[in-house]
Amino acid sequence: MNWLRNFMYGRYGVDQFGNFLFVTYIILLVLSLFFPFVSVLCYALIIYSIFRMFSKQIYKRQAENEWFLSRTSGIRKFLNRQKNKWKYRKTHKYLKCPHCHQYLRVPKGKGEITITCPSCHQQFDKRT
Ligand SMILES: [Zn+2]
Repeated sequence: MNWLRNFMYGRYGVDQFGNFLFVTYIILLVLSLFFPFVSVLCYALIIYSIFRMFSKQIYKRQAENEWFLSRTSGIRKFLNRQKNKWKYRKTHKYLKCPHCHQYLRVPKGKGEITITCPSCHQQFDKRT
């Protein structure tokens, strides 16, 4: 494993954008079974992924990742919320503040409770 560590020293490695490219690659790989022309995109994607991973221009790769993260912040927030909804489905309920539409997580099964929104400080009652 030492040679690998030496080889990867000063190289960029994997980030969120790299993971995204890899998942896209897998999806395209499956699609290419049905649409052979998609395999061209597959090759391009995997070559670009490998290039990024072994790149020594760390700042450029970080800038690409920042760009990716800023472009996908909405969808990542949404997916994260869905994940948490599922994770806490037995103990918590997710609802939107009727005043400012902020998402709130409240304990489940407490009956009628008064909720104070942490972002707009308005109060409202809700059965949970
Ligand atoms: Zn609110």
